Amino acid sequence: MKKAYFSKIIVEWYQAAHRDLPWRNTQDPYKIWLSEIILQQTRVLQGLPYYQKFIQNYPTVTSLAEAKEQEVLRLWQGLGYYTRARNLHKCAREVVNFFKGKFPPTFEELRTLPGIGAYTAAAIASFAFRQPVAVVDGNVYRVLSRVFGIDKDIASPAGKKFFSELANKLIPIQDPGTYNQAVMEFGAMHCLPKNPKCETCIFRSNCFAYQHEQQDSLPVKIKRQKITKRYFYYFLIRRGTKILMMRRTKKDIWNGLFDFLLHEEGRPVDPAKIFKKLFPPKRGPKGLLQINKISKSYRHVLSHQVIHAHFIEVDWPSGKDLPALLPSSTAKWFSSKQIENVPKSVLISRFLEDSGIL
Ligand code: SF4
Repeated sequence: MKKAYFSKIIVEWYQAAHRDLPWRNTQDPYKIWLSEIILQQTRVLQGLPYYQKFIQNYPTVTSLAEAKEQEVLRLWQGLGYYTRARNLHKCAREVVNFFKGKFPPTFEELRTLPGIGAYTAAAIASFAFRQPVAVVDGNVYRVLSRVFGIDKDIASPAGKKFFSELANKLIPIQDPGTYNQAVMEFGAMHCLPKNPKCETCIFRSNCFAYQHEQQDSLPVKIKRQKITKRYFYYFLIRRGTKILMMRRTKKDIWNGLFDFLLHEEGRPVDPAKIFKKLFPPKRGPKGLLQINKISKSYRHVLSHQVIHAHFIEVDWPSGKDLPALLPSSTAKWFSSKQIENVPKSVLISRFLEDSGIL
């Protein structure tokens, strides 16, 4: 599809179908800015009464700048995300102090104001000052990726850059504000995340996603899961030639596999301190329990976790009962032959091989 055709047809759709919202009938940058800040993380229906209250109480940016912060926060009450309200107030003051009470007209200058990110700056610059800067938000990603068949990851910096460049190529010089509103409104009302209204769509005959039935797979957003760091302190307890092992029974990694008595911390700790914590003299056989050896640190990488493990070797006096702190009834003394036969994680196998036990 030709880019000029896309821009023309979506603006025509907008003119016929858009919702009549108060901030759309104005070119006043103050009102546009106010509506954009209120609508961040807020649905239109919920934000509308707040917009009206703010305009009523503070009809100009100067009146908002002169208000006390407490009054602004009180009016904002119920919208949540109070940093937005504080930035709103701060921004009004900066407009008054540094720009003589008038919002600057360029994207770059708008970006310097508190609480104004790339999206809001593009919206104000294009709606109020007719600057050809494209807004790029979730609606825009969805519409462009589906219509033009773009499978770049919108969560990646390269994907974001690609969509931003495309959106800026599509924006018409004449009336860029209406075009920006049109793409956003089309994404919000027609090309919906679930069940887009393809049957009645203006792009039906050219839309890549519709033609290839890829509405559900576009846009592409790859979730990156947080990597958790875990610190394992294993106690390799020996009694004669046998070693204490137990089966893992908790809902966690390696469930059902065998390992040693384990203590976990959320941060790195000196293994000797862990030993003292777990085996204070009154709990272990008096005076007999000592650390024989502390292994090097093992780093084991799983898909969403990195485990740092130490193995603390301790001799258990023969004839004494098993440590009372053992969590599991599966704990038993194993010979090296038995250890070889039970299922173990790669981490445990690595350690057993390094230490010559297997
Ligand atoms: S045809 Fe469907 S997927 Fe394509 S732009 Fe229209 S509503 Fe969106």
